[in-house]
Amino acid sequence: MDTDQPTKAPAFPLTPDQVEEMLDAAERMAQLGHWFLDVATQRPIWSKQVFAIFRRDPERGEPLISDLRRYLHAEDWPQLKQAIDACGAHGTPYDLTFRIRRDDASEGHARVYGTAMRETDGSIRKLAGFIQDVTAQQAVNTALREREANYRLLVEQQTDLIVKVDAAGRFLFVSPAYCRTFAKGEHELLGRKFMPLVHPEDRAQTERAMADLYRPPHQCYLEQRAMTSQGWRWLGWSDSAILDEQGQVTAIVGVGRDIHERKLAELALSRAQRMLDLALESGGIGTFTADFKTGEVSVDERYLEQLGYKPGELEVDYDWWLQNVHPDDIASFADQTDQVLYGGLDDFTAEYRIRHRDGHWVWIQDHARVYERDADGAALAATGLHLDITRRKEAELKLAYNADHDPLTDLLNRRGMWRSIRRIHAQCTRGHHPYCIAILDLDHFKQVNDTYGHVAGDALLREIARLLSSQSREADWIARWGGEEFLILMPDTDIQQGRVLTERLREQIAQARFQVEGHALTITSSAGLAACALGSDSQDAVVNRADRALYAAKQAGRNRVCDLTSSARA
Ligand code: GH3
Ligand code: MG
Ligand code: MG
Repeated sequence: MDTDQPTKAPAFPLTPDQVEEMLDAAERMAQLGHWFLDVATQRPIWSKQVFAIFRRDPERGEPLISDLRRYLHAEDWPQLKQAIDACGAHGTPYDLTFRIRRDDASEGHARVYGTAMRETDGSIRKLAGFIQDVTAQQAVNTALREREANYRLLVEQQTDLIVKVDAAGRFLFVSPAYCRTFAKGEHELLGRKFMPLVHPEDRAQTERAMADLYRPPHQCYLEQRAMTSQGWRWLGWSDSAILDEQGQVTAIVGVGRDIHERKLAELALSRAQRMLDLALESGGIGTFTADFKTGEVSVDERYLEQLGYKPGELEVDYDWWLQNVHPDDIASFADQTDQVLYGGLDDFTAEYRIRHRDGHWVWIQDHARVYERDADGAALAATGLHLDITRRKEAELKLAYNADHDPLTDLLNRRGMWRSIRRIHAQCTRGHHPYCIAILDLDHFKQVNDTYGHVAGDALLREIARLLSSQSREADWIARWGGEEFLILMPDTDIQQGRVLTERLREQIAQARFQVEGHALTITSSAGLAACALGSDSQDAVVNRADRALYAAKQAGRNRVCDLTSSARA
C-alpha cells in the first residue's frame, strides 16, 4: 500500500527555466500575473502575464510607475497611487479592483493585490503583488447586480401583489404592494398564515385551489375576497407551486390583483343576465342578432322552437327570413325596413306571419334594434326579440270576425254588411256601375217557432242562410239583416238582373224542403229590391227603398219580389 510522502523531493528536479515555464503556464490559466516594484527607483518588474493583461508588448519593457496611470481609468488612478504609496511608506497591503485600459484600447477590470517585502532591518525596499484580469467575472457580477436590481424594481414597483407562502400557507415573502393593500408591515405578515385574511365564505374554495397546486400543472387561478385596508375587496390570484428536485411542493408563489370593480360589475351583469334569461324564458321570447355585413343571423333555441326547428336544424340568414315571411306582410313594413337598414330609425317593430317548419304560418311580433352603423349610417348589426303571437293574433282576428258576422248563420251581420255596402257603393258610383240590394224576409216565420220550437226555427234560419250562400253569385254579399231577414248585395247589377237573381232565390226557398229537427219544412219569403240610381243616390236611400219594397211585397200577399216601380205598378 502506497503512502504519500509530501516532504519528499520531486522525482524529477526542475531547472529554474522549467519552474519559470510552469509558473507562466499557471499564470496564463489563472489570467493572473505577478509583479515587483522597487520603491526607490519606482521601477516595476512584470511577469509575462501582466504584459498580457495590459496587452503591452514585452519588447517595450515595463513602464515606470508614473506611466502606469495610462493603464487605469483616470478616476481610479489616484486610489492606486495612494495605495502604492501607503504600502511603500507603511507596509499597508492592498487588494483593490480597478477599471483598466489596455494598449489595444480595450477596457476591462483588474484586481490588484500589493504587499510590502520587508528587509531584515524592517525597512521596505520592494513591493510585490499580483494582478488578475477580472473583466469576465466583473461582467457576470454586473449582470447579476442589474438583474437583481431589475427584479427588485419589478417587485417593488409592481401594483400586483406578490407573495410566497410555505406549504402550510405561512408567508415567506410579501411584496410592498401586498403590504400597502393590507396596511401591514412585512414583520406583521412574515411567518403568519394568509387564510385569516380571506373572507370566510371564500375559504373553502381557496383551500380547494391550494390543494390543486399539488397536482400538475401546479398552477391555478382563483378569485376571493380579502380584508384589505379598504375593507373586503375581490382579489384575483394566479398561484404556482414551487417544486424541489423530488417534485415535492416547497412553496407557493401567488400574484394577485385587485379585481373588485370588475368583479362587482361582473356579478351585476350576471344578475342582469339571469333576470333577462328568466324574462325571455317565461315570456317564451326568442332572440336573434343579425350581422348585415355577412348576412348572418344567429338565433337562440326559442326562436327555432317557435318555427318548429330543433337547435342546429336551421341556418337563418337575411335571405331566408325574407323568403319565409308571408308575402302579404312584407309590404306592411318594407318602408320601415329601409329606414332601419339605411338610417333614420334604430328600432324595427312589426307583426308578421312566418312559415313554420310544417308549412303553416306563425304570427311573430318582432322588435329589433340596430346597435352598430357604418360612417354612412348603414346598419351593421342589430339584435332583436321574437314573440310568437299566433294565439293573440288569431283571437284578434276572431274578434274582428265576430264583430262583423252573425254567430248563428255565420253570414255578415248588419255592421259587416254596412261596411260592404259602403265600399261597393263607393266603387260602383266611381265606376258608374249600378248595384242592387234585396232585403228578403221569411213569411210567417213566427209560426215555425210556434209549431216546432225556437231551436227548430234557428236550424231553419241556418238552412236558409246556407241556401242563399250557395245559390247566390260569388261576387254577391249576404247578411243576416235582422231576425229572419236577409240582405243580398249585388255589385255591378242593374235592376233587371237584380230582379232575376232575387226571384230565383225566392223560388228556390219556396221549392226547398228543409230537414229540420226531424221535420221536412217548407217556407216562402218576400223580398224588396232596390237598385242604386246612378248620380245622386245614397247608400242609405237604396237600403231604405229595398225596405219599403219589402213592405210592399208583404202587403201584396207575400212570396214575391217587389221593387218600388213594380209595387207602384201592382
Ligand atoms: P211576416 O214576416 O210574414 O209578416 O210574419 P212573421 O211571423 O215572419 O213576422 P215577423 O217577421 O214580424 O216576425 C219575425 C219572427 O221571427 C219573430 C220571432 O219569433 C222570429 N225570430 C226572429 N229572430 C229569430 C231567431 O233568431 N230565432 C228564431 N227561432 N226565431 C226568430
Ligand atoms: Mg217574417
Ligand atoms: Mg221579419
